[in-house]
Amino acid sequence: MRANFLVMAKLILITHMQVPRWFIRRKQLFSFFCRHGVTRRSMASHPTATDTTRFDFLVIGGGSGGLAGARRAAELGASAAVIESHKLGGTCVNVGCVPKKVMWNAAVHAEYLHDHSDYGFDVGNVRFSWETLKAKRDAYVSHLNRIYRNNLDKAKIQTIQGHARFMNDPEPTVEVNGKKYSAPHILIATGGHPSVLSDAECCFANRRSVIVGAGYIAVEMAGILSTLGSKTSLIIRQTGVLRNFDSFISTNCTKEIQSSGVDLWKNSQVKSVCKTDRGLEVMIVTKDPEKKNEEKISTIQEVDCLLWAIGRQPNTSGLNIGAMGVDTDESGHIIVDEFQNTSRPGIYAVGDVCGRALLTPVAIAAGRKLAHRLFEDKKDSKLDYSTIPTVVFSHPPIGTVGLTEEEAIKTRGKENVKIYKTSFTPMYHAITSRKTQCLMKLVCVGKEEKVVGLHMQGLGCDEMLQGFSVAIIMGATKADFDKTIAIHPTSSEELVTMR
Ligand SMILES: Cc1cc2nc3c(=O)[nH]c(=O)nc-3n(C[C@H](O)[C@H](O)[C@H](O)COP(=O)(O)OP(=O)(O)OC[C@H]3O[C@@H](n4cnc5c(N)ncnc54)[C@H](O)[C@@H]3O)c2cc1C
Repeated sequence: MRANFLVMAKLILITHMQVPRWFIRRKQLFSFFCRHGVTRRSMASHPTATDTTRFDFLVIGGGSGGLAGARRAAELGASAAVIESHKLGGTCVNVGCVPKKVMWNAAVHAEYLHDHSDYGFDVGNVRFSWETLKAKRDAYVSHLNRIYRNNLDKAKIQTIQGHARFMNDPEPTVEVNGKKYSAPHILIATGGHPSVLSDAECCFANRRSVIVGAGYIAVEMAGILSTLGSKTSLIIRQTGVLRNFDSFISTNCTKEIQSSGVDLWKNSQVKSVCKTDRGLEVMIVTKDPEKKNEEKISTIQEVDCLLWAIGRQPNTSGLNIGAMGVDTDESGHIIVDEFQNTSRPGIYAVGDVCGRALLTPVAIAAGRKLAHRLFEDKKDSKLDYSTIPTVVFSHPPIGTVGLTEEEAIKTRGKENVKIYKTSFTPMYHAITSRKTQCLMKLVCVGKEEKVVGLHMQGLGCDEMLQGFSVAIIMGATKADFDKTIAIHPTSSEELVTMR
C-alpha cells in the first residue's frame, strides 16, 4: 500500500515537473513570437547598416535587479543583453549584503567566544586574523562573480562590459565603448553609490574606527568592527539610530550599541578631518540640547578607518537620461509608476536607482515582475511594495515587517490600534555572563486585530522573520497567532503567546 502510494506520488511529481514545463514553455514562446514577430530566440540581430545591435530587452546594470530581470526575460524567450561597467552582481554581491554578512558572521563568532567558558569550553588563546577573513571573503565574492557570468552565458544573455550612456538619437539607443545597442524595451537598473565615498579597504585590520551615520549600514558596520576588536565610535546627528524604524526598536538598538562598547556620539557631526602621520584626526562638534545647543568641539585621534554611511545617491548622472525624456526627482532618482514605467515609453527602471525600499530582494522581484509583464503578457504583473520584511544585522539582529506603531496610529487612528509587546532574556543567556535582551512587538488593527506590523530585536530574529512575514502578508490576525502551538524552548514562541 505504502509502496503504491510512493510510486503514485512519484508519478504525480514527474507529471507535474515535466509536462507543464514543456507545455508552458511552448505556450510562452508562442505568445512571445506572436507579440514580437520574431522567429529565433536569444539571438541579437547583428549590426545593420546603422551599426546598432538590437535585442528584445537591453538591461543597463548587472546588479540584483538587472540580472534578475534579464534572466527572467531570457527564460520567457526574449533575446537579452546586460551592460555592466564594473563587476557582475552589483552592490549586493561586491560591496553590500554578501561581504557584509560574511563579516557579521565573523563578528557573531567573536561574540560567542565570550560565552565559551560559560558553556564549559576552554578554548585557550584565540587569535583572529583579518587577513584570513578578508582573503576568504574576497574569494567567495569572486566565485559569485563567476557564477553570475556563467548563468548569463548559459541563458544566452550577452554580457557587454562597459559604461552605458544614452545617445541623442530619436530611437532610444545606448552607447558602450563606441558601439551602439538598442531594444524596444530598455531597463535601467544602475543602482546607487555612497553619498560620501570612504576608502574601500579602510575597514580592515584597523585599530580605531569612526563611523558617521545613523542608518542601518552605519549600525551594522559599527557592530561588526567593534565586535571584531576595533575601538569604534559612531557619530550620529540626533539622539538615536534607525529613526525611521518603530521607536521601540530605535530606542533599544541605540541602547544595545552603547552597552556593546561602541562609543556613541549623540547630537554630533564631523567638523573636519585631517591627515597626520599617526592616522586621521577627526574633529567633532557636539550640541548640548540641555544647554541651548551649546557647542563642544572634540577630536578623535589616530583613526585608521573613517567610514561615511550617510546615505546613497542614484547612478543616473552619467546616463544622459534627460535626453530620453526620462524624469528624475530632485535627488536624481528615476521616477517610475507602479509598473516600473519611466516617463519615456519603452524605458523602465527598477531597484535602488528608483530610491524606494533599497533592498536586494526588492530589486530582484521588481525586475522579474517586469519581465513577466513585457514578455509573458501578464499585464498586471507588478511588485507590491506595501509589506516588505527586512533585517538589520546589528548585535543582536533586528527583524521588522509592516507598519510601525506610529504609522498604524497615523493611518488607522489610535482607537483602532492594539499593541502587544514583550521583552525577555533569551534562554541562550541562561548560563552566560554576557547578556542581550530580546524585544518583540505586534501592531494589530481593527476589531479582528489583524497583525499589520511585527518588530523585534534579539538573538535569532534575523531567521525568525521570514515565516512570520508570510503569515502577515496572508492577513493573519492575533487570534491566528494565538492558535499556533508554540515551539519550546525558543525565542520565537513568545510571538504566539503574547497577551
Ligand atoms: C553596505 C551595504 C549593505 C547592504 N546590505 C543589504 C542586505 O543585507 N540586504 C539587502 O537586501 N540589501 C542590502 N543592501 C542593499 C542592496 O545591495 C541594494 O538594494 C541592491 O544591490 C540594489 O540592486 P540594484 O540592481 O538596484 O543595483 P546594484 O546592485 O547597485 O547594481 C547596479 C549595477 O549597475 C552598474 N552600473 C551603474 N551605472 C552603469 C552604467 N552607466 N553602465 C553600466 N553599468 C552601470 C553598477 O556597476 C552596478 O553593478 C546593502 C547595501 C549596502 C551598500
